[in-house]
Amino acid sequence: MDFSLPPRVADLLPEVERFVAERLYPLEGDLLHKPWAHAEEKLAGVRDEVRERGWWLPQVAEEHGGMGLSVLEHGLTSSVLGRSPLGLYAFGCQAPDAGNLEILIDHGSDEQKERFLGPLVAGRSRSCFAMTEPEFPGSNPVWMATRAQRDGDGDGWVLDGHKWFASSADGAAFAVVMAVTDPEAERHRRASMFVVPTDTPGYELVRNVPVMGHAGDGWPSHGEIRLTGCRLPAGALLGPEGHGFALAQDRLGPGRIHHCMRWIGVAERSLDLMCRRAVDRELAPGEPLAEKGAVREWIAESRAEIDAARFAVLHAAWKMDREGAKAARVEISAIKFQVAGVMLRTVDRAIQAHGALGISDDTVLSWFYTQERAARIYDGPDEVHKAVVARRVLRAYE
Ligand SMILES: Cc1cc2nc3c(=O)[nH]c(=O)nc-3n(C[C@H](O)[C@H](O)[C@H](O)COP(=O)(O)OP(=O)(O)OC[C@H]3O[C@@H](n4cnc5c(N)ncnc54)[C@H](O)[C@@H]3O)c2cc1C
Repeated sequence: MDFSLPPRVADLLPEVERFVAERLYPLEGDLLHKPWAHAEEKLAGVRDEVRERGWWLPQVAEEHGGMGLSVLEHGLTSSVLGRSPLGLYAFGCQAPDAGNLEILIDHGSDEQKERFLGPLVAGRSRSCFAMTEPEFPGSNPVWMATRAQRDGDGDGWVLDGHKWFASSADGAAFAVVMAVTDPEAERHRRASMFVVPTDTPGYELVRNVPVMGHAGDGWPSHGEIRLTGCRLPAGALLGPEGHGFALAQDRLGPGRIHHCMRWIGVAERSLDLMCRRAVDRELAPGEPLAEKGAVREWIAESRAEIDAARFAVLHAAWKMDREGAKAARVEISAIKFQVAGVMLRTVDRAIQAHGALGISDDTVLSWFYTQERAARIYDGPDEVHKAVVARRVLRAYE
């Protein structure tokens, strides 16, 4: 087995890591706790610098203005960008835009590409993805109530429904909305995807759902949306009718690798902070925290767990690049809950090592603790992914 870094990213990763530390870490304290418009303005300059260095949209093909990195190469880059909550945004590869970009590139019509993809690729607009509904279990997304019906005799559509936790809906130029087009069809063929400009009459951002004490606005927010008699032209359908879930599945495979690698970045940064604090903090003159057995155990366990998690994700990415997302189904489900757990345990240990400072907003740890808890819920809760893995493992014994 070859554990060396792919040549395309071997030199890039230390450079990007330095850039993130020098340009983004100093902005976090100011930007994460203020209105997003303030952050957007400050980050515009950083994004320009990223573009000048040729690092914009690492995961997008060169013909669309990106770097054209493979799933594995972009995964490695995400692990470095994930060290800061601002990293992926600064490089244009933040969720949910990254997933929407991918769908538009693969399935968008020429008109959709021109109107929606162009501004997204340029970083001039943002988007959101609206599938989950408050009244239905997001863990079983084929069961939903949002309806898209033909508009009278015309070939347009009328959408009615209620969505929530549409990340980054606040300020988005358009939403990719999942809606039932044929309630009688087989359950995986019932729904379709639509591109809905957010200024369409009948589209309403009801509120940003507060999360763990954070009101949320702009990109770091989660919107509740109502669609009431929202009329769309025929050209709003994204991909073929009835293919909504197939497209969503396409969007999730590489997305999970990137999430997991971003979480590795969160864990690495937390371990870094824990080690620095352990060495610098003295419990009595000449007696650093780092001498305590409990802290050394946290550090050793975190190091071992993060390394194991990293190898598992890289293996899943490697398999996906070679054999496709379907073949890597077990690996992708396994890393989803494995890495989320490792990240959250590491963040918790780092907070404990910092004492009161750990729960203050003076370090990035409190942001990680509150905003990353969701990792065990979105893109499939832990329990759903464990069920997938167990089912496949047990097949060999049946
Ligand atoms: C921060 C964040 C961002 C999000 N962003 C988006 C977005 O941009 N767009 C979007 O459409 N949605 C988004 N979501 C919604 C997300 O996809 C759902 O929250 C998720 O699918 C779980 O659905 P639910 O919340 O309805 O929980 P439910 O489906 O009600 O599940 C509740 C709990 O039940 C348990 N459970 C569920 N199924 C099983 C099972 N089969 N076996 C055993 N236990 C089970 C799990 O513990 C689960 O946490 C986001 C959510 C969060 C928290």
